[in-house]
Amino acid sequence: MKLLSAIVPCYNEEENVPYFYEEFIKNESFLKAHEIDFELWYVDDGSKDATVSEVKKLIEKDARVHLVSFSRNFGKEAALYAGLQKAKGDYVACMDADLQDPPSLLPEMFENIWQGYDMVATRRVTRKGEPMIRSFFARMFYKVMNKISDAQVVDGARDFRLMTRQVVDAILSMKEYNRFTKGIFGWVGFETKWLEFENIERKKGETKWSFWKLFIYSIEGITSFSTTPLAIASVMGVVFCIAAFLLIGVIIVRTLVFGDPTSGWPSLVCIISLISGVQLLCLGIVGQYLAKTYMEVKDRPIYLVKEEI
Ligand code: UDP
Ligand code: MG
Repeated sequence: MKLLSAIVPCYNEEENVPYFYEEFIKNESFLKAHEIDFELWYVDDGSKDATVSEVKKLIEKDARVHLVSFSRNFGKEAALYAGLQKAKGDYVACMDADLQDPPSLLPEMFENIWQGYDMVATRRVTRKGEPMIRSFFARMFYKVMNKISDAQVVDGARDFRLMTRQVVDAILSMKEYNRFTKGIFGWVGFETKWLEFENIERKKGETKWSFWKLFIYSIEGITSFSTTPLAIASVMGVVFCIAAFLLIGVIIVRTLVFGDPTSGWPSLVCIISLISGVQLLCLGIVGQYLAKTYMEVKDRPIYLVKEEI
């Protein structure tokens, strides 16, 4: 018998926990037919609602269900990491609790694993039911990210994946504190098969991602997997130095030829504000990396467990 571990991060998902179980269990006959056992890990990311008690109800019914509960909200990335650490399976699947990652895709995913792929990933091809402005920024982010980092992130990629033990161990070997999971999946490589599906709206409850949270997350993604912004800051510095030297030359020649040393106050103000703006921007970029380094150096645990069943 092989073992499949399914990891479900949950943050205030009391309504979705039982639904997810019902949907997932529909794969039981398929799994049995292929001699695969399963364990289902709900990772409670410090929910403030009845998520934990809902999971406990399931555990009473079915011994294959497990729970890890965090001491507070550590974020989905931490929840996924915890789940991957707990999972003992030969195959591991990560899925959202809100059924936006349909468990009915699992059989197809397994077929691809058996064909020799190490990882089967999913991407949604539509962004139905999402604000236009959010889709626009999301697409921009993927473009920039793929240009400047060595972790390929596919547009619309979800964290819904089925992987072999080898891939899971590779991901676990990345112990960084700033965990941008989409980038980590891309960074480890391996043969990945992409399955596409239409966006499905979440079953119950609301998304936990505000626009601002997504924006911060995208900056995290870029700084975690690329140092190109630092290079851009340096290049900008060089460009402005050259421009300044040219301008100095122009002004010296102009003063010698035409006199008139006191005019040009408005242009001076413009130049000073432009350059101080650029300086602050570059300082900010450096600061981002310094902050990341600071958090990594502290070496704090990625999550703290309050309860495990
Ligand atoms: N999630 C989590 N911790 C958080 C935020 C979200 O574990 O701090 C879980 C959430 O319960 C869900 C999954 O991550 O199972 C995806 O979250 P959501 O559906 O809000 O994101 P979206 O699908 O809108 O991108
Ligand atoms: Mg969702």
